Amino acid sequence: MFYFRIKYYCLRIAMLVPTRILQITTVFVTVTTTYHFKMLFVNFIELYDIFEHKTNGPVSISVIEKLQSWNLLARDCVLKCKNGHYLKLYPDVRSLDGFGWRCRAPINKQKNKCDYYQSIRVDTFFHKSHLSLYQIVSFAYLWLENVSLSFIVKQIKIAQHTAVDWSSFHREVVFEAMITNHNKIGGVGQVVEIDESKFGRRKYNRGHRVDGQWIFGGVQRETGDCFLIPVEKRDKDTLLTAINDWILPGTTIISDCWKSYQCLEDEVFVHLTVNHSIQFKNPETGAHTNTVEGMWRHAKASLSQYSRKKRFYGGYLAKFMFLKRCRILNIEPLTEFFKLAGELYDPKAIQENNLLVSDDEASSETDENDEDL
Ligand SMILES: [Zn+2]
Repeated sequence: MFYFRIKYYCLRIAMLVPTRILQITTVFVTVTTTYHFKMLFVNFIELYDIFEHKTNGPVSISVIEKLQSWNLLARDCVLKCKNGHYLKLYPDVRSLDGFGWRCRAPINKQKNKCDYYQSIRVDTFFHKSHLSLYQIVSFAYLWLENVSLSFIVKQIKIAQHTAVDWSSFHREVVFEAMITNHNKIGGVGQVVEIDESKFGRRKYNRGHRVDGQWIFGGVQRETGDCFLIPVEKRDKDTLLTAINDWILPGTTIISDCWKSYQCLEDEVFVHLTVNHSIQFKNPETGAHTNTVEGMWRHAKASLSQYSRKKRFYGGYLAKFMFLKRCRILNIEPLTEFFKLAGELYDPKAIQENNLLVSDDEASSETDENDEDL
């Protein structure tokens, strides 16, 4: 809408400026408008176009370059062979994807070549999978769209157990980014509403007994930044540890009158309360927890389709947080997800780490030998 408004004003200004300038401005606005929408929405059809309508087998170099731009594959001259030369991408008709990493550097004066080879998938997000690159990228797209696994199974033609495995790899990526390496929310002058809610409490529904899971969560009013984490208990120690772990000092925290929160004023926070048994809003301070209650509604609706196994909650909540963050920052979930996957499965970092480990193993072996001597 914003762009159309700009277009409209361009036309208004055009009454006053020469025609040529008008043409240039309109073309510029049209190009940026198209580019803007392309950036925001990669849809399923466009993915199919990116893969040049080949859902299986070797891909073209432009597909490889796209995967490199998404951070899913390393670029030329980043990875090294065992002799320390940089690897380059070469077409390889025998490989699954049509390309491989190769080193042909000379290794002696007789001009013998290094002749090292490795698959482009080694240590990447695609490592050891028998699925095509298209199937894996499409899985990510559909998974982020929150469609059911049974739908994904039908659309990209994979086995049920493969879909379950890939769902778990995807949860691992968002869990690492949103929970393991999380940022704190709030800060001085900022308001964070906190609350706990029981998820999955559905005891006698058609004979399925589902145990509930307590989730502790908070949301920053100004930005919508949030956290949701499973907690085993709702005692003072558990909740205070979570609060200190997720909320910056100096934040104004609003909660209900749950006794575990009574200590918050002794901490580095400003604490306001609402007594939910008698009111929705504290008449003296105006404190309310409408934002966090809205978050529970959305989170519960988004998690309702999943199995309620307790050990999966962390991953599902991380996915909810990830998609919410993408909405707040207006970033495309697919490319953002690939960026995170590329950070978790970074072939260069994994290769360097493996080298360190093998050095350690080599030195410990020597140590053992020394011991024997
Ligand atoms: Zn080499």
